[in-house]
Amino acid sequence: MHAALCLILLAVEATGLLAGKSAMSETSRVAVVTGASRGIGRAVALALAAAGAHVIALARTQGALEELDDEIRKLRPDEPSPATLAPADLRDFAAIDRLGRVIFERWGRLDALVGNAGILGPIMPLHHVDPRQWEDALAVNVTANWRLIRALDPLLRASQGGRVAMVSSGIGHRADFRAYWGPYAVSKAALDALVRTYAAETVNTSNIKVMAVNPGALRTAMRAEAMPGEDPMILRTPEELAPKIVELCSLAWSETGKLYDFPRGEVLSFRAPA
Ligand code: NDP
Repeated sequence: MHAALCLILLAVEATGLLAGKSAMSETSRVAVVTGASRGIGRAVALALAAAGAHVIALARTQGALEELDDEIRKLRPDEPSPATLAPADLRDFAAIDRLGRVIFERWGRLDALVGNAGILGPIMPLHHVDPRQWEDALAVNVTANWRLIRALDPLLRASQGGRVAMVSSGIGHRADFRAYWGPYAVSKAALDALVRTYAAETVNTSNIKVMAVNPGALRTAMRAEAMPGEDPMILRTPEELAPKIVELCSLAWSETGKLYDFPRGEVLSFRAPA
């Protein structure tokens, strides 16, 4: 096991592993980042850690999470445990519930949730899609984010200012839908609906702010899978987007139920079709 690693073992019964609330002050924000092993999530985890947050980094690939932990330790050499690793498959919804319980026991609150993990799913006509691939795309891109909200809502309400940033896509609100991107487009349109619904449910009853984020085309493994012929060097990087997501996670962020569109650098309101 990785040296001095602060690891949440979600695959096993976690109660008791991390007992007792930390004395951490509200100024030191606690943030969950899903899909933190690479791409946008990794860049966001590093940027949040650099800004002083305690990042709970979730993904399946434990080795990549351990490398992230090493990088965070370099940023925060004076802290014995500046991050917590949560190796888990988001399709394991019971693990998401356990995550909520562990965060409650250790911190009693959650200040930010970055629902970033996602999969592209199959690029093919709807009638060719294998039902298991459909279920996976919906499970990772939508249901896991709903389960995170379900498990973490009381902890976000316990924060001085809970912030939620769900990494969506421009795909779900194009006037002309693309052929063959069905599972991905359906899942991201549903994720946008999840964001707007949760924003409506929290706007008058809490200090929670909920945003969707459209990253645009960024240089990651997913983009390379989607566009194999494209020169990745023409694309902007996750590191360019990450500071904006840190801003969305900050106490100072005041918008809710909207889309931050990185290509335009603007906060956009969702609109009914004309
Ligand atoms: P990557 O493929 O580089 O990273 C995806 C991340 O999600 C990985 O950390 C992966 O970790 C994690 N993940 C995937 N499946 C699971 C699972 N079952 N359980 C836990 N974690 C999982 O993609 P990007 O960084 O490009 O994408 C991040 C988000 O940005 C996605 O939601 C994507 O839809 C969105 N987006 C990206 C765009 C781009 O151009 N890059 C454009 C528009 C939207 P692991 O494999 O270790 O589990």
